[in-house]
Amino acid sequence: MSNPILDVRNATKRFGGLTAVNDVSFIVRRGELLGIAGPNGSGKSTLFNIVSRIPFGPTSGGIWFDGQQIDRMAPHKIAGMGLTRTFQKDVEFPDLTASETVGVAATYGKGLPRNELQGSVQQALDLVEFDPERRTMPTTELSVYQRKQLMIASALVMDPKVLMLDEPASGLTRPEISALEALLRKINATGITILLIEHVLSLLMAVSKRLIVLNQGALLSEGDPTEVMKDPAVVEAYLGT
Ligand code: ADP
Ligand code: MG
Repeated sequence: MSNPILDVRNATKRFGGLTAVNDVSFIVRRGELLGIAGPNGSGKSTLFNIVSRIPFGPTSGGIWFDGQQIDRMAPHKIAGMGLTRTFQKDVEFPDLTASETVGVAATYGKGLPRNELQGSVQQALDLVEFDPERRTMPTTELSVYQRKQLMIASALVMDPKVLMLDEPASGLTRPEISALEALLRKINATGITILLIEHVLSLLMAVSKRLIVLNQGALLSEGDPTEVMKDPAVVEAYLGT
């Protein structure tokens, strides 16, 4: 496939003697929703870390985003180019309102001037359907789902081409997961490419056009989600841990 939005080639990340990501290569097509699965500790979050360079880049290997090599670029530059991410760990929001929190992200990625900031912030909050009544509330008073909305809005405000989501469904109820599924479809339909790491397999299988599976840092299987999940190597990796 020519001209992928993201091209990861032979990416490796070592922590001392541990190889968390081991010679992983894959491409992401423009506009697709690529699912990423794998047992705990298989290197999924580390893969997002080395692609975004938040907080660190790869030990070796090359990463190209929209035709430009990014594996040595400053993280805020990568975000500014349109590659943004969310974190698996629940974000410790500072003592700010919901709108202010998204505003901080807007200055990080885009360096937007103050007068343009409010419009972008409200647009991002609109896209995730964040309750207008709660936008001036302190983030400490928000529910788990509202915090997820805020986390996604903080990535969207940077006007991304690619959005990388690390287990956004964790801690959500069934109805909230359905709402998240609709939100992911809506974001993807605006043309934003999505990489989704998700332990809630029903969600992952429902929205992914393609799936890659990591195991012990290596790429184990890749392709049509239903086919990949039937791959004996994948079944074994899930049962074996
Ligand atoms: P996953 O997200 O698939 O559960 P991770 O990418 O978080 O897996 O972790 C992959 C492996 O790398 C694990 O063995 C984990 O303990 C290790 N690891 C992750 N981050 C670090 C770090 N900053 N320092 C040392 N080891 C790490
Ligand atoms: Mg993880």
